[in-house]
Amino acid sequence: MRERKFVDTSVSRRSPLPIEIQPRYCVNHATDLTAGCSFACIYCPFADLNARRRGVRRPTAVDLSTLDDHPAPPTLFLSPASDAFAPQAADNTHRLLSHLLPRGTVVGIVTKGIIPDETLSLLAVYREQIEGVAVGVTNLDDERNARLEPGCPPAALRLRNIDCLVAHGVAVGLRLDPLIPEVDDVPESLERMADEAARRGALGITASYVIAWGRSLRRMRREPLLAKAVGWLTEHMPVEGGMAWGVALPRRRETYSRLAALTQARGLKFNICGCKNVELRTSDEFRTSCRNTWFLDDRGLRASEPEC
Ligand code: SF4
Repeated sequence: MRERKFVDTSVSRRSPLPIEIQPRYCVNHATDLTAGCSFACIYCPFADLNARRRGVRRPTAVDLSTLDDHPAPPTLFLSPASDAFAPQAADNTHRLLSHLLPRGTVVGIVTKGIIPDETLSLLAVYREQIEGVAVGVTNLDDERNARLEPGCPPAALRLRNIDCLVAHGVAVGLRLDPLIPEVDDVPESLERMADEAARRGALGITASYVIAWGRSLRRMRREPLLAKAVGWLTEHMPVEGGMAWGVALPRRRETYSRLAALTQARGLKFNICGCKNVELRTSDEFRTSCRNTWFLDDRGLRASEPEC
């Protein structure tokens, strides 16, 4: 992945892992509050990569002791290679937000965790700076989720985040990412997810199909539930920062079009991840940014859709 360091401190195995805030994702700064991720989604390549890069064998909280030394970035995304509300991260996330929100940073969060009440209240106070919280639930099937996302809370608990964020007046969407072919993209399942988003008051849905390579692809191949799914990963395709195995464009396009129709019928917004759908960035079929571009446009923070 492209990296230009905003704050970069060298990593030492003898000292705590420093916080790194890097400008990269979708014209956004980004940081991880842990190296590695205890949610341990079997399809995830990013958490392992970051853990190896930072020299840890298990999810390890970063050290925020130098945070006061760094300027607050204008925007921040939590988190590219971990989950801000995984057990090892949640306290740090609250501390980081308590530091940055009063300094004006606009924050976007993607999570499959549960947002603690204290942090919900903090987000509510600074709701005008919360670009959005995207709650990650791709499927309501508890067995699928337990096998593919073994460390994550059950879908019902994750979805309650949406209720709580709506009640606190914080912008929230539902994230269907990754969609796994044959498992998550059957029309009835997509319709159920669109119903959940609408019923709970989410602003919209962000979706993207799975991409895989290396260890994550090998884990998927070993999982019996994904025996058919991995057969659909036939495309060695461009993604932001490199190449990955993914689903052929016609199937992606068909599912995204179905979701666009489902969301439109329910008065919801719809976008897809441009980093994992590079070929669709230049078409005008879908908004190809994971960011809440409607929020940004409304505030003049970004005149038009950012390129991932
Ligand atoms: S929660 Fe996110 S970062 Fe953590 S393992 Fe799952 S996909 Fe990876």
